[in-house]
Amino acid sequence: MRIILMGPPGAGKGTQAVFIAEKLGIPHISTGDIFRANVSQGTSLGVEAKKFMDAGEYVPDSVTNAMVADRLSQADAQKGFLLDGYPRTLDQINELDKVLTAAGVAVEKVIELTVDIDAVVPRLQKRAAEQNRVDDTEDVIRRRLEVYAEQTAPLTDVYAKRGLLVQVDGFGEISEVTKRILSVLGI
Ligand code: ADP
Repeated sequence: MRIILMGPPGAGKGTQAVFIAEKLGIPHISTGDIFRANVSQGTSLGVEAKKFMDAGEYVPDSVTNAMVADRLSQADAQKGFLLDGYPRTLDQINELDKVLTAAGVAVEKVIELTVDIDAVVPRLQKRAAEQNRVDDTEDVIRRRLEVYAEQTAPLTDVYAKRGLLVQVDGFGEISEVTKRILSVLGI
């Protein structure tokens, strides 16, 4: 199965993605996780990405697209994948379309986790305290939510028009939300 998980920062995408990917036996591909791993390893990709991440801005499409195309070409992603945090711009949607069309495959479902924006700020602040994420300070959180609303939220329309979008209420117990997602996937 090829699935995209969308939703604002703090919606719980990462948490849910781990459960769903494991249940389906497909890799969980999180661009945020890949960027953070590169930052902590001090790679040139990490050095480049960090400048944007620390400000709550998106890493440039050219960098992100190349990284995802490479990840999707790996053996484990041939049987399917759960994309978390990608695509976030129209250019990324176009690139993903290109990569998948060239491989003769397509996305089957796009799940949008919906949450009340007022509820995500405290969640993100709590996560900042637990995980020591530098991009979870109050100013940066606010900027990330703005960037999401401006650049990414409108993109759900693209997938809605293709008949792929399903909205899932992200509010509630983690296990409840997991059940809702599995149910829309027919599991
Ligand atoms: P969140 O969803 O909470 O914002 P992520 O862990 O998904 O957090 O992403 C952290 C940061 O990594 C983003 O703020 C952004 O700078 C960068 N990033 C992740 N995915 C993308 C993407 N698809 N395009 C551009 N930048 C990205």
